[in-house]
Amino acid sequence: MALKTPEEFVQSLADLHLQIYLFGEKVDDYVNHPLIRPSINCMAMTYELAAMPEYEDLMLATSHLTGEKINRFTHIHQSAEDLAKKVKMQRLLGQKTGSCFQRCVGMDAVNALYSVTWETDQARGTDYHERFKKYLRYLQEEDLVADGAMTDPKGDRSLPPHQQPDPDVYVHIVEKRDDGIVVRGAKAHQTGACNSHEIIVMPTIAMREGDEDFAVSFSCPANAEGVSYIYGRQSCDTRKLEETDLDVGNMRFGGQEALMVFDDVFVPWEHVYMCGEIEFSGALVERFAGFHRQSYGGCKVGVGDVLIGAAALAAEYNGVARASHIKDKIIEMTHLNETLFSCGLACSYEGVKMPAGNWQIDMLLANVCKQNITRFPYEIARLAEDIAGGLMVTMPSAQDLADEKIGPIVEKFLVGTCDTPVIDRMRVLRLIENLTLGAGAVGYRTESLHGAGSPQAQRIMIARQSNLNHKKELAKAIAEVGKPWEKSRVKKPTAVAG
Ligand code: SF4
Ligand code: FE
Repeated sequence: MALKTPEEFVQSLADLHLQIYLFGEKVDDYVNHPLIRPSINCMAMTYELAAMPEYEDLMLATSHLTGEKINRFTHIHQSAEDLAKKVKMQRLLGQKTGSCFQRCVGMDAVNALYSVTWETDQARGTDYHERFKKYLRYLQEEDLVADGAMTDPKGDRSLPPHQQPDPDVYVHIVEKRDDGIVVRGAKAHQTGACNSHEIIVMPTIAMREGDEDFAVSFSCPANAEGVSYIYGRQSCDTRKLEETDLDVGNMRFGGQEALMVFDDVFVPWEHVYMCGEIEFSGALVERFAGFHRQSYGGCKVGVGDVLIGAAALAAEYNGVARASHIKDKIIEMTHLNETLFSCGLACSYEGVKMPAGNWQIDMLLANVCKQNITRFPYEIARLAEDIAGGLMVTMPSAQDLADEKIGPIVEKFLVGTCDTPVIDRMRVLRLIENLTLGAGAVGYRTESLHGAGSPQAQRIMIARQSNLNHKKELAKAIAEVGKPWEKSRVKKPTAVAG
């Protein structure tokens, strides 16, 4: 099976007839729904760029299973270079869409499961790894999108899964049968959920004794019986329903999150990759999160490039591009953005080969990368708003601009430098609004904070990986801590004459 074209991807998505709910109603023609379509366009870009010769090196990889050319989003990283190319590919896609393009969660899920299934088999004598490889081959050969689904709603955070008053707040096994398992629960804020052919479920936390039914990983088709999606709202999302697209800011692209519900879904054994092995649940969570924390060092940087460009244009259109403080703000934005990229590349180039044969990022540096992502995009956004000025949030609508009577007044007073059409000035300001406050801010701001784990999750990992004892030993060696101290060798400084 060849790589899919963007058109084939969209058709294959329509053919799934997913159970999607939005504004309290079931959406049947979801691929043409104006509020959903921008997110589908984003996902389609992962197919479009893969077909362009100039991006082949980043977008395609050679499958270690079949030797065939595959989309990198379905690839198991085979080297540190592969890990770095992943980050560069994500920056490219962020630049082309100015949005979250969603396909990374599946890529990060398969890479985490690859080594965890192998290690589980070594310890437990199970055959998860072979099952998983068979499934991976299917994803690669059919060029499918898989949604990596990790985050459970979690209910009362002070209680473990098996003590929750309603156990459904964590995905869990409700029945084990000869032919498979039946699962129930939900996954929250699932990126790209309604744009995926397949779902890969993983546990959300390290499970302990008593939580065996919650230590479950499996895959199922996105349209499996019992799976439904409740579409997540984004700030200013109904602007996408307006006749004109000017006020949306990002004309063609957008992100997508949904609440994914599993209502007694049957999963055959061949698609189960963890079933009660609580001791491996923590590793799966850490590795998926680690890969996704690396991912942000690519995708958010690409979106950052778009925002920096928009801020520079806004300055130009206002006639202030040469002001020294504006230049300095653009430099600061660039410095922050490239620091994030450096982190994404650093955790890739410091990656290691796992016993299963795949390559994994350096965990400490991946967590440092994401910790910076929880901060720097906020500062970049603040500087972009500073440069854009207040008009970004007080500007009249596209309808006003189009109105016969009001339009000329808007044009007269929204003029900037004389060679800039007012419409272009408005377009750029709306883009900055989109990325800092509007629908695009979901991906650029709040997702930078909470996506791939909230800030505290990285701090815990940084503490665990920091090898503080080694640092103490370094300090002791330099300070000669513990060395016998010979008082007799101490001499008073000779007094300086004068
Ligand atoms: Fe990919 Fe970034 Fe979206 Fe995650 S947030 S799915 S890494 S684009
Ligand atoms: Fe994300």
